[in-house]
Amino acid sequence: MSIQSFIPPRRILMGPGPSDISPQVLQAMSRPTVGHLDPLFIQMMDEVKALLKYAFQTENEFTIAVSAPGSAGMEACFVNLIEPGDKVIVCRNGVFGERMRENVLRAGGEAVVVDDEWGSPASPEKVEQAFLNHPDAKILAFVHAETSTGALSDAQTLGTLAKRHSALTIVDTVTSLGGVPLKVDEWQLDAVYSGSQKCLSCVPGLSPVTFSAAAIEKIQSRDTPIQSWFLDQSLVLGYWSGEGKRSYHHTAPVNSLYALHESLVLLQNEGLESAWQRHQEMHQKLKQGLEALGFKFVVEEAYRLPQLNAVYIPEGIDEAKIRQQLLNEYNLEIGAGLGALAGKAWRIGLMGYGASQQNVSLCLKALEEKLK
Ligand SMILES: *Cc1c(COP(=O)(O)O)cnc(C)c1O
Repeated sequence: MSIQSFIPPRRILMGPGPSDISPQVLQAMSRPTVGHLDPLFIQMMDEVKALLKYAFQTENEFTIAVSAPGSAGMEACFVNLIEPGDKVIVCRNGVFGERMRENVLRAGGEAVVVDDEWGSPASPEKVEQAFLNHPDAKILAFVHAETSTGALSDAQTLGTLAKRHSALTIVDTVTSLGGVPLKVDEWQLDAVYSGSQKCLSCVPGLSPVTFSAAAIEKIQSRDTPIQSWFLDQSLVLGYWSGEGKRSYHHTAPVNSLYALHESLVLLQNEGLESAWQRHQEMHQKLKQGLEALGFKFVVEEAYRLPQLNAVYIPEGIDEAKIRQQLLNEYNLEIGAGLGALAGKAWRIGLMGYGASQQNVSLCLKALEEKLK
């Protein structure tokens, strides 16, 4: 055997994630590995917590990064908050809402599903009705930014609504964090998870989460133990905090956390509002270009995510072949349709570092040339 080192090409990532990563973040990742209980590393973890609080706009003490991808952050929220028999209202308007429903069932909960069309946001009216029909519902779960369709749901209205019915919220912000306004405290959200590889433009494999005081209280007053040892946040808490006497839980992905730290420093330096605005501006430019090429958006303008542009594929073209050509000839990756939109739509991401004029121009030029 003489397998050689793997040298990947330099792709432009304009799909649903992972997104383009800043060279500064990749550089941070290649710095020397230190022990995960090294005092300097612990200091850095504290900074990651502070930076994540800023990104999530929260004062929640329990704000950390789960050492696994967004899907693990999702699972962490569900297995910690749900006890067998708990009734959970789940909004389903795409792939990730359906995954939430599966998580509820696997945690032994009862799912009350509120369905909306793919491409539409979760309907607060339907959720209100679900609470009236199920006053014993303890949790409302919804996806803020549905990456399978590009639709943005109104997390503020849904969060307030859940509070009025004395329910906790579990909110998927994997694609929204850093790309569109998200205000965990102001909107009264309880268990919120995200991902490193979308608008934070960090390497895949980490999942920022934040838990409100009410969520922590629910976890601490459980009658049954959390079925997942690794994701049991009461154990993880001792690893990420505990004033000078941190206890070993698992070995943190040290270098990935350097990368997350760096990507959050970049976000802090740019400023959240400026980052949201940049995503919006790049989206407007991409939208104008796509519409000039004849593309139609899947989502109505009012609910459209700037960072995930789902457009219908023109009739009569071999969509997989075009994506292959974009990759081979332009080193450009765009996303295929997922679930109900498979074969019908493309998903063009403008996430984090990739939300740039350069990427918009390249994508429009490549599509124009290939669709001629
Ligand atoms: C990408 C994504 C996830 C899953 O994140 P992974 O890092 O792929 O595990 C969950 N929810 C939404 C909305 C996503 O876009």
